[in-house]
Amino acid sequence: MDFDVIVVGSGFAGSVLAERLANVLNKKVLIIEKRNHISGNMYDYEKYGFYIHKYGPHIFHTNNKEVFDYLSQFTEWIPYYHKVLANIDGKKVPLPFNLNTLYRLFPIEYAKKLEKKLIDNFGYGVKIPILKLKEKSKEIEDKDLEYLANYIYEKVFLNYTRKQWDLEPEELMGVTDRVPILISRDDRYFQDKYQVMPKEGYTKMFERMLSSKNIKIMLNTDYKEIVKIDFDEGKVYLFNNEFKGIFIYTGEIDYFFNYKYGKLPYRSLRFKFIELDKKFYLDTATENFPNEYEFTRITEFKHFYKSVNDGNINKTIIVEEYPEKYNEENEPYYPIPKKEYLEIYEKYKKEVSNLNNKFRNIKFYFVGRLAEYRYYNMDKVVERALEVFEEIKEGEKNE
Ligand code: FAD
Ligand code: UDP
Repeated sequence: MDFDVIVVGSGFAGSVLAERLANVLNKKVLIIEKRNHISGNMYDYEKYGFYIHKYGPHIFHTNNKEVFDYLSQFTEWIPYYHKVLANIDGKKVPLPFNLNTLYRLFPIEYAKKLEKKLIDNFGYGVKIPILKLKEKSKEIEDKDLEYLANYIYEKVFLNYTRKQWDLEPEELMGVTDRVPILISRDDRYFQDKYQVMPKEGYTKMFERMLSSKNIKIMLNTDYKEIVKIDFDEGKVYLFNNEFKGIFIYTGEIDYFFNYKYGKLPYRSLRFKFIELDKKFYLDTATENFPNEYEFTRITEFKHFYKSVNDGNINKTIIVEEYPEKYNEENEPYYPIPKKEYLEIYEKYKKEVSNLNNKFRNIKFYFVGRLAEYRYYNMDKVVERALEVFEEIKEGEKNE
């Protein structure tokens, strides 16, 4: 088959673009994937009637109707509201830190006082990142709020962040803002409009996305094994033949450019899966351990599918997450949003525009967590891939 499009990577970024280009624009697409399966970090498999997420717990949540409707073509959904308990001072308390958490940790009269101050200063239903709460409480010189902010910072964020990133919360741009203090009684981890899980798992959804005859998939192949990029000549060769068309890249951007500006650091994880002869191990899907143990959190997959499966079998599977430095043996899960690394990324990003000037017969698109060095959630990757598709479509119209 002569291909119009090369897609490197079969995660959300690669698969959404492959699906759109094949089904809407009738392009012949080759997906090159180095792992032995499709779906990228979303890969899951069934065991004991549940779906186990090989690359850590993945919960779908979004406010974007377009993203939700788009994915709904490839899966039915079941409702699922994610809940997390954090182990603080020997108690299991709701996370994000909210008013219920406050009442679980402090004597009632003091909790009432803090609740009033939070609502008076910031409003009910408001979300406030921990670093902002620290700063604001200092600014308004309220000793109680200052105490509370420091307490949450130290008990919830400081040690978890050190474990997860080996950095201080202040060094990471926007990372702790992902779990803001919530001035309400809502115990859910996310407040998005759409919170669901794919009824038959994520992998099944990806299989349906990639089922077109226009799409061929090569697994177990690093793209550099079959694609040669001649940066001087401005040409791409696929199996030694010159390739002309669209090149979608969703792998690590520094690898693409042969580490020209040095390696971009990533944070990795080791997942320890444990099978237990029990109906349930945890009360909620996830428990976080900011201050104890080497792992950050434990997740029990059975909870995700409770609305359709009562879990009445004496087997369960949990996973512990152990943060690690990225090396040759593990996976680059998290780009590290630290100023100096983002500056290196910007240099690589400039190279992408240079490519598009130099390579006359190829249009390059870099999309996704690794190619854009962005701490994207899955819905944002889908949103971004759909935007890139619109860009490609418009470009074709104008040709
Ligand atoms: P990936 O899924 O990483 O896909 C990239 C693909 O490219 C991979 O399959 C890789 O093997 C392939 N590839 C890379 N280099 C090459 C190469 N040289 N040649 C060939 N193939 C290559 N998001 C949420 O919305 N909710 C969650 O609950 C959530 N939980 C998460 C938990 C963890 C532990 C992690 C790490 C992430 C989580 N995410 C979550 C984020 C989510 O995983 C990502 O946003 C999404 O999977 C990114 O998709 P992607 O296509 O950009 O990257
Ligand atoms: N975080 C924390 N304590 C917690 C939960 C989160 O300090 O109990 C911080 C930590 O820095 C973490 C970040 O908030 O990396 C984002 O948390 P999230 O649960 O969104 O992480 P992810 O699921 O993306 O790994």
